[in-house]
Amino acid sequence: MLQTIGDTREGFLCPQCHQDMGNLEMLQVHFQNVHMKQSSTVVKGLFSFAKQKLKSVQNNFQNSNEPSKIYSQYFSFDSHDYHSKKQYMGFTRSHYTYFQIVRKDKLHEIYTKTQQLLLRLELLTNINEHIPPNGNTKERRKYEQGIIPWMEDSVVSICSSCSASFGFSRRKHHCRLDGLVICNQCSRFILFSIARRIVDSNTSSTNNSFTIQQLMNLKTITSSTIINNASNEDHLRICMSCARCLQNYYRQIFFKNIPKDEIFHYYENIIQAKKEYTQVQLTYVAIIDSILSGNTKYQIKDAQQVYRQLSVSYEKIDSTSKKLVAFADKCPNIDENDISSKARYATLCRNIRMYAVQVLQNFSLSTRRVPTEDEIKQARDAKQRSDNELMEKVILSIPGINGKTLELSEELKPFIQQYYQVLQYMQQAKLAGRDDEVKLLESNLEELAQAMRVAHQN
Ligand SMILES: [Zn+2]
Ligand SMILES: [Zn+2]
Ligand SMILES: [Zn+2]
Repeated sequence: MLQTIGDTREGFLCPQCHQDMGNLEMLQVHFQNVHMKQSSTVVKGLFSFAKQKLKSVQNNFQNSNEPSKIYSQYFSFDSHDYHSKKQYMGFTRSHYTYFQIVRKDKLHEIYTKTQQLLLRLELLTNINEHIPPNGNTKERRKYEQGIIPWMEDSVVSICSSCSASFGFSRRKHHCRLDGLVICNQCSRFILFSIARRIVDSNTSSTNNSFTIQQLMNLKTITSSTIINNASNEDHLRICMSCARCLQNYYRQIFFKNIPKDEIFHYYENIIQAKKEYTQVQLTYVAIIDSILSGNTKYQIKDAQQVYRQLSVSYEKIDSTSKKLVAFADKCPNIDENDISSKARYATLCRNIRMYAVQVLQNFSLSTRRVPTEDEIKQARDAKQRSDNELMEKVILSIPGINGKTLELSEELKPFIQQYYQVLQYMQQAKLAGRDDEVKLLESNLEELAQAMRVAHQN
């Protein structure tokens, strides 16, 4: 991309530090990361600079002297071209269904385990159950073992979590949630108050109490040492596997309930608009293809109508993501003094905008504007020419016919077209391994060739 002509450098140079960034996207990323902290006028300058660059790219694309050549780079409107014919996929197999089955089983397993743990946790910490007070008292153990039997000490010689051998310095302990024997190092402790919060987290009364602060505490809902806090609060010893299971459950509930920041909704809107665009684009390309290849099924006004739909989605992505840039400057909902959160919030907003700009660029480049009457005529002529060329080639490939002496008469054209089509079907059938069909098509070809030989002799 970088060209050096004397002292003149060309390419996507950074207007600040004159580094060549290779392409527009990299330049934007570089600029936002390195120079964005500077005044907003510079930023505006970059955006107008970027827009100019993009515009010139688009102009190149639209005002080319060879519309058909440029166009065919992006769209194949001539599916009958002998040389650049479509490549078929060959054998494919989707493993998605299998993946879903495996995943479903796994999810079910996790769900069942989690529900079991929650049920036990509820019984183990429910104040209405008159649980014997904390400590290694016999009554307490009896109560705990009534909920989940403990694994027999004598049959276990290694920790079920770290596999280290038990002995004098490594004593056996039990996870209160699944009864497994673990060592002290692999033990986690959960306070009754936190256990209650997890058990009650999915009930409506606590739904509104989720805060960012709690998110920070997610990892510490269990601890690796017994907390001797002032009130000497009751706690449970659990294994790491059970602790992880509870954490994951709580995290899920948490993210389901925490009020989403506005930027989530903006982001979702952008993604939605992107989906819409991609879908409508398929229709649009099909319509343009049809018009350019000489079909009369669609008119220019059909293309224009769909193009307007595309513009709506395009605008939506652009305007929504622009709002996010304003968010990046103001950082609403973030504490004034929380510098690092503000920085991350602003980066997130700008990154979404950058992503949107990239999406829009790709859309610009991959979407042709509605062709003019002139362009349609040119494309149709080009198609006519290549059709004729193709037919001449097909004629040469028909056994028993000397193509050089054969005039491409109007009566013969349908035969040749059909011959070519059957050839293509046959290739597809061969690729897919449908041998019976190949044989049938082969005999069809021979019949066609025979018919043409007869016509040729007359
Ligand atoms: Zn720079
Ligand atoms: Zn262990
Ligand atoms: Zn456990």
